[in-house]
Amino acid sequence: MKLTLSETAEMLTRARRIVITAHENPEGDAIGSSLGLMHVLRGMGKEAVVLLDDDIPAIFKVLPGYDVIGKPAEGQETVPADLLVILDTAPDRIGRVPDVTDVQAVLNIDHHRTNSGVAAYTYVDDTRAATAEIIFDLVKELGVPFSREAAMCIYTGLATDSGFFRFSNTTPHTMRAAAEMLECGVTANEISEALEQKPYQVVKDTAEAVNMAERFADGHAIGIFLDQATTARMESTEGFIGAIRVVEGVDVAVVLKAKEERLCRVSMRSKGVDVSEIALSFGGGGHIRAAGCTLAMPFAEAKQAICSAIEQAIRALPVKRPTGKAEEDA
Ligand code: AMP
Ligand code: MN
Repeated sequence: MKLTLSETAEMLTRARRIVITAHENPEGDAIGSSLGLMHVLRGMGKEAVVLLDDDIPAIFKVLPGYDVIGKPAEGQETVPADLLVILDTAPDRIGRVPDVTDVQAVLNIDHHRTNSGVAAYTYVDDTRAATAEIIFDLVKELGVPFSREAAMCIYTGLATDSGFFRFSNTTPHTMRAAAEMLECGVTANEISEALEQKPYQVVKDTAEAVNMAERFADGHAIGIFLDQATTARMESTEGFIGAIRVVEGVDVAVVLKAKEERLCRVSMRSKGVDVSEIALSFGGGGHIRAAGCTLAMPFAEAKQAICSAIEQAIRALPVKRPTGKAEEDA
């Protein structure tokens, strides 16, 4: 059932014990919106916990609450709650969280246009740059104040999903929300400096990956394709796509990494092509300019499949292909 913002706020007001979760492989918005909502709910006197079924990158230690993020463990006791809130994804990418929670109701809050609303209660606003921007809207609706802790987390979601307020999803509302977070005590450089830290080896791996980049579709697309052995020895592939999407003439950038013999993870960014449609056609999802999917195919087959889908989408674009202006949302 689709809810309005006020109905969503009402559900949160009614619940007493709340478990908050977000997608696996969590990034700034998943972690920031989860912890932000946790601080807000705790401020309202509720019991709120964050459970994420993944390891949380150490750069997010800058966020208040990093240390209390829980991870489902084998054979753990189930966590009882009135409400499970799923953030920044449809309910299919939250790992074992449903197995370790015993909840009365499920509320899904998201900004992905591909979220088809399968949860019992869903609030999706795809005009918002980040799920954290929806948390901001909810706090306004609830009429409660932002603590500095909540503001730090919400700001992080806003900043990371909008590429620090550069991508096409950045609106006046995004910037007003961010400005208000600064008024609540957020120090922007503290967050950006913490998040841009990378281990030495990751910078070296990025150089190696960029060196492997291949252009295709007459130079309108570019990709980094990592086989299983290469993926396995690389600590993080996080910055790879950002490093190649800036190449002149490129509309679509793709990073494909083989995680298992028959399992490849794909990330895409674009300036014109709707990559969420390509991702959807492979069972994934995302936004027009940033999307992803997982292909149950061997490396070579997956590479061939994704490249031909991208080529086809580029060919289907109107003749004047956009160039130059870098746009992206995540
Ligand atoms: P990424 O390339 O992992 O940064 O993801 C880009 C965008 O696509 C993010 O907003 C993701 O939440 C979304 N996305 C990535 N993979 C999937 C997937 N398998 N299913 C649905 N959405 C996805
Ligand atoms: Mn997001």
